[in-house]
Amino acid sequence: MAEECPFCEIVRGAAPADVVRETDRVLAFRDLHPQGPSHVLVIPKEHHPHLASLRAADGALAGELVLEAHQVALDEGIAETGYRLVCNTGRNGGQTVSHLHWHVLGGRRFSWPPG
Ligand code: 5GP
Ligand code: ZN
Repeated sequence: MAEECPFCEIVRGAAPADVVRETDRVLAFRDLHPQGPSHVLVIPKEHHPHLASLRAADGALAGELVLEAHQVALDEGIAETGYRLVCNTGRNGGQTVSHLHWHVLGGRRFSWPPG
C-alpha cells in the first residue's frame, strides 16, 4: 500500500469504485472518466508504480493482469468486436496515476494514433 495513492485507497475499501472483477491479486473497476461505452481499469492489488517495479517483485503477475484484462473484455461483451488494451507508462506515456494499470476500452472504434 502506498499513501495517497487513489488506487490503493480503492483496494483497501477506503474509496468507492464500481468493481467488475476481483481475484486474490487483481482488481478491475470502471474508470471515473470513461473514454468509451466500456472503460475498465485492471490493477494489481499490490502497489507498483510501473512494470519495472512489478518485474522486480513478481514478473508472472504481469501476464496474469493481461489475461484478467481479457476476461474483463469477455465479461463486458466487447471481446468479439474488439477492444483496446493500454498501459500508459511515465510522463511521456501519459500516466497520471502512479499505480500500474491497464485500460480496457471498447464499445466503439478507436483510431490510431490516439488523439
Ligand atoms: P492514466 O492516465 O494514469 O493511464 O489513467 C488514469 C485513469 O484513472 C484515468 O483514466 C482516470 O480517469 C482514472 N482515475 C483517476 N482517479 C480515479 C479514481 O479515483 N477512480 C476511478 N475509478 N478512476 C480514476
Ligand atoms: Zn497504489
